[in-house]
Amino acid sequence: MGMKVFIETYGCQMNVNDSEVVLSILQDAGYTRCMDISEADLILVNTCSVRDNAEQRVLGRLDVFRLEKKKRPVLVGVLGCMAERLKEKLLENEAVDIVAGPDSYRELPRLVSAARLESKQIDTLLSHEETYGDIAPVRMDSNGVSAFISIMRGCNNVCSYCIVPFVRGAERSRDPESILREAKSLIENGYKEINLLGQNVDSYRWKNPENHADRVDFARLLEMVALLDPTVRVRFATSHPKDMSDGVLYTMAMYDNICKHIHLPVQSGSDVMLKKMNRKYTRESYLERISKIREILPECSITTDVIAGFCGETEEDHRQTISLFNEVNFDSAFMFQYSERPGTKAARQFADDVPLEVKTERLEEIITLQNEISLDRNILCVGNVYEVLIEGPSKRSPLDLMGRTSGNKTCIFPARGHKAGEYVNVRILSCSSATLKGEIVED
Ligand code: SF4
Repeated sequence: MGMKVFIETYGCQMNVNDSEVVLSILQDAGYTRCMDISEADLILVNTCSVRDNAEQRVLGRLDVFRLEKKKRPVLVGVLGCMAERLKEKLLENEAVDIVAGPDSYRELPRLVSAARLESKQIDTLLSHEETYGDIAPVRMDSNGVSAFISIMRGCNNVCSYCIVPFVRGAERSRDPESILREAKSLIENGYKEINLLGQNVDSYRWKNPENHADRVDFARLLEMVALLDPTVRVRFATSHPKDMSDGVLYTMAMYDNICKHIHLPVQSGSDVMLKKMNRKYTRESYLERISKIREILPECSITTDVIAGFCGETEEDHRQTISLFNEVNFDSAFMFQYSERPGTKAARQFADDVPLEVKTERLEEIITLQNEISLDRNILCVGNVYEVLIEGPSKRSPLDLMGRTSGNKTCIFPARGHKAGEYVNVRILSCSSATLKGEIVED
């Protein structure tokens, strides 16, 4: 009772949401959150394994925690994907007392007590059922406007470069009633935007265990959340080109409060690479999804993920990626160079044979091109008026506010007495490749 817990989170939004679940579990067990590491009785670091540098950063933090342990009795626990990937190996680190994988968070109070009384503890059992659906996350560091709800856990796709299926386990979809309950509670607490999260939201499939005919797919779930309150925006990530249905696109078109933005990772423009990555779609089928989005949702902004320098990538494969970027004109993209992850299919079967300098060169070419395209896409917004949901003060100028359009474009504008959580109409006056700048148009 009364132990103070300090939680540090790395990686994706799923991890941030998991840390909120962890805090909820620990608060129910009598812990209180502290923001200063020197006050903590328990330090938890929720980790990411998507690339090597993410893990290196955590190892650096463990060195800091080891010094903290020298000063006073404090327990250190490693959670998340790195805990699941490295398991017992992490217990060899002097700083670490507890290792808990993404499906073991209910066990944390027991693991902490045992670690305090006996010895180092570990639980990295992956589950086929666990969704933490009955646990109300404790919102951390939230702006009080936008919040995230995990609608599913794990992934069955096993893209050959990806560690996620090995550290987050098989796919399981959460009971829609528990998702709606969480959404209603957010709306009652004044949140104006709900982000539905999943590694691959398009494969959300819930079947009522009592009545198998009662099923909910992602299009239906999206509609159920949108119907809760038309003044509350709904967003979702991440989509998968092989599973994204027309049903999802038509549902987005039917409801104004479903934001017109789709994040659709492509990873490469070359069919040879897509096959080797086990992405289960081709360049042509990807482009077909893009044209379908633009047919049903002409104003929809589209963003993506891309990997440069995957195993065996030739100059011709790279040119295919460049030509696809020129053809699609994404609004923006997350761009990375291939980082081999131990345990993945690629690490087991393919040589990481693209020289580092070539990977970097290709990545830089993609980044330069995408920045030009993002700027061109944003220039098309200048002069137009967009509805913006204010999220808070601009980081750069205290007199300005920051918000996002339905198309997920960041917008900066003078406050003029408005505040976070309000919708305002903003006329775009100028832009950069990353940001739109404008002024509020009063009704
Ligand atoms: S879809 Fe592929 S890249 Fe995305 S989490 Fe699943 S395995 Fe990883």
